[in-house]
Amino acid sequence: MLKINNLHVKLEEEDKQILKGLSLEVPAGEVHAIMGPNGSGKSTLSYVLSGRDGYEVTGGEATLDGESLLDMEPEERAAAGLFLAFQYPVEIPGVGNMTFLRTAVNAQRKARGEEELSSGEFLKVVRAKAAELQISPEMLKRPVNVGFSGGEKKRNEILQMAMLEPRMCIMDETDSGLDVDAMRLVSEGVNALRSPDRSFLVITHYQRLLNHIQPDVVHIMSNGRIIKSGGPELALEVEENGYGDLLAEAG
Ligand code: ADP
Ligand code: MG
Ligand code: MG
Repeated sequence: MLKINNLHVKLEEEDKQILKGLSLEVPAGEVHAIMGPNGSGKSTLSYVLSGRDGYEVTGGEATLDGESLLDMEPEERAAAGLFLAFQYPVEIPGVGNMTFLRTAVNAQRKARGEEELSSGEFLKVVRAKAAELQISPEMLKRPVNVGFSGGEKKRNEILQMAMLEPRMCIMDETDSGLDVDAMRLVSEGVNALRSPDRSFLVITHYQRLLNHIQPDVVHIMSNGRIIKSGGPELALEVEENGYGDLLAEAG
C-alpha cells in the first residue's frame, strides 16, 4: 500500500532540511499512528504527501500501490486513492457542502475514467452516508465548513472520507483543540471506515486518541525520521514517560 523510502525534504524558501531519511510502510488494512515531539516534521510529511507547494523533495520516494506519489498532481493523488484530512479544514464561503462533495467525487471518478454520478445517484449516496454519521440535511446545504463547530468540521471530514472511499487516509491531528467529543468522532469515523483494503496513517500528539482507534503499529518520529516503531504499547510508554528515553535511546 503506502511505502515511503528514505524521504528527504527541505523547505523551498530556506535552506532547512526537515525530513531526513524517513522510511515507513503501511500495509493494506492496517492503521498506523505517528507520534513525536513538536517540530519533528509530522505535518511536513502530510503536506509533502498531499503535494502542497513550498517543499522540495531532495531524496527518497513515496509510492501508493507501487505508483510514485511525488510526481503526481494533487488531484491525481486523490484519484489514486489518497485522502488527507488536515488539522485546519478549509472554509469555502459561497460553496454548499453538497456541491463541494459532488464536485470532489466526480473529479475523482473522471480522473479514474469512470462515469460521473447523476445528481439523483449522488443524493442517494450522500444522504445515506450523512445519516450514518448523524450529519443533518441542513449541514449538507451550508457553505463548506463556514461557521461549523470543531465537532461539525470533524464530522464533515469523516463524511468527505466516506464519500471518496480512499484506499489510504492520512490524518494530521494536532494538540490544538480536539476536545473529547471531537476525538470520539474521529476515532468512531476511523473505526467505521476500517476495512481490509483501506489503510490509515494517523498523526497525533494524543496518546488518548489511540486508546479509541487501537492502531496496529505506532511510530515515533523525531528530527525528521522514524526513530522507533512498535505496537500500541509504545503510545502508552510515551504517555507515561514522555519522549525523553526514546530520544536518548535513538541517540
Ligand atoms: P510537527 O508537525 O511535528 O510539529 P512540522 O512539520 O510542523 O512539525 O515542522 C517541522 C519543522 O519545520 C519545525 O522546525 C518547523 O518550524 C519547520 N517548518 C515547517 N514548515 C515551515 C515553513 N513553511 N517555514 C518555516 N519553517 C517551517
Ligand atoms: Mg507542530
Ligand atoms: Mg504538526
